[in-house]
Amino acid sequence: MKTLVLIFLLLSPSCLYGHSVSDYQLYTAIGSSKDNQYSSIVIRKLFYNSKVHYLTVNPETLSTHIQAGSTLNVSECPWETIRRNHKNTPYIEALRDAELNAETLQDAGITHFFPSQRGVDLTIDLCPSRRPLDRSLFTELTSELGKEEKPVPLAVAITGLWMKEHDLDLQWLLDREKNKELSIVWINHSYNHRTSKELPLRENFLLEKGTDIKFEILQTEAEMIEKGITPSIFFRFPGLVSDDKLFHQVTAYGLIPVGSDAWLGKNQWPKEGSIILVHANGNEPIGIHRFVQLMKDEKENSVNKKWLLFDLRESIVETERAKDKD
Ligand SMILES: [Zn+2]
Repeated sequence: MKTLVLIFLLLSPSCLYGHSVSDYQLYTAIGSSKDNQYSSIVIRKLFYNSKVHYLTVNPETLSTHIQAGSTLNVSECPWETIRRNHKNTPYIEALRDAELNAETLQDAGITHFFPSQRGVDLTIDLCPSRRPLDRSLFTELTSELGKEEKPVPLAVAITGLWMKEHDLDLQWLLDREKNKELSIVWINHSYNHRTSKELPLRENFLLEKGTDIKFEILQTEAEMIEKGITPSIFFRFPGLVSDDKLFHQVTAYGLIPVGSDAWLGKNQWPKEGSIILVHANGNEPIGIHRFVQLMKDEKENSVNKKWLLFDLRESIVETERAKDKD
C-alpha cells in the first residue's frame, strides 16, 4: 500500500510542482488592492492550493499575476463594461487592433509591430511532439545575446499535450527563467492542437468539428499554473488558422491572438518589428537554424544595442502609445 501511495505521489503533476488548481473559470471583475493603491482587471477565478485566487492583468503594462483573494477587493463586472471603461489602455486598444484582423483564415490577430529601435519579437511554438525540446535554440540565445540582454526576452507558445509529455524539458526551461537567463512570456497555444493532413483549412486545427474551445483555453492555463507558469494575455492559434467566430470566442476570454509575419521555416524573412515564429519542439530545425544565423548576422549590431529582441508586452505598449500620439 505504501508503495502504491508513493507511486501516486510521484506521478501526480500537482504534487511534482507543489501546486493544485481547481474550478478554473472565466471570471471578469475589477480587483483593487486592499489599500486602494492600484487596480487591475480580473480575467479568471480559481482555487489554488484550495484557496480562492484570481488571474489579473495590468492593462497599462499587460503583465499578469496570480493573486490571492485575500489580498484584493473584487467586484464582478461584465467583460463589455470592462472593455468600455478601459478603452484607452494599451491592453484594450491591442484587443481592438487585433480584432481589425479577425476575418482572415490564416495569420489573424497581431502580426507586426512598429518599434522605435531595430529589432524583432521572437515567438517559439511548442506544439505536441514526440521529439525532445530543441535546447540549442535557448543556449544559443543566451550565448549570443545574454551579455546585452539579461534576461533575454522571448515568448513561448505552449500546448497542454506538450507539457504533459515533456516534464524534464519544461523544468529545464523554467530553470533558465529562474536563473534570469531568459524572460519568457507564456502564450496559450491550445491544449490538444489537433491537426489533420486531409482536412481543408476551414475545417482544420481549432476549426475541426467537435472542438471544445473552452477546454482548449482553460485547461491549458490551469495546467500551466499547476506547473508554476503564469499565463500571459496572448493566444496563438494552432496552424495560425481561425475564422471570425473563433477569433471573437478567444478575445471574449480576454486573450489577444498573436500571428506572425516571419515564419522562418516557411521562408518568410523578418523585417524590422517582425513577430518571428520558430518551433522548438524538434519538428522544424530549419527555422531554428535560420534564427541562429540571423543572430550571428546581427552580432555587431546587437553588441552595440542596435538590434534587440523585444518583450511582446512592451512592443504592444510602445505601438499603442505611438498611435495615441498620432
Ligand atoms: Zn503549433
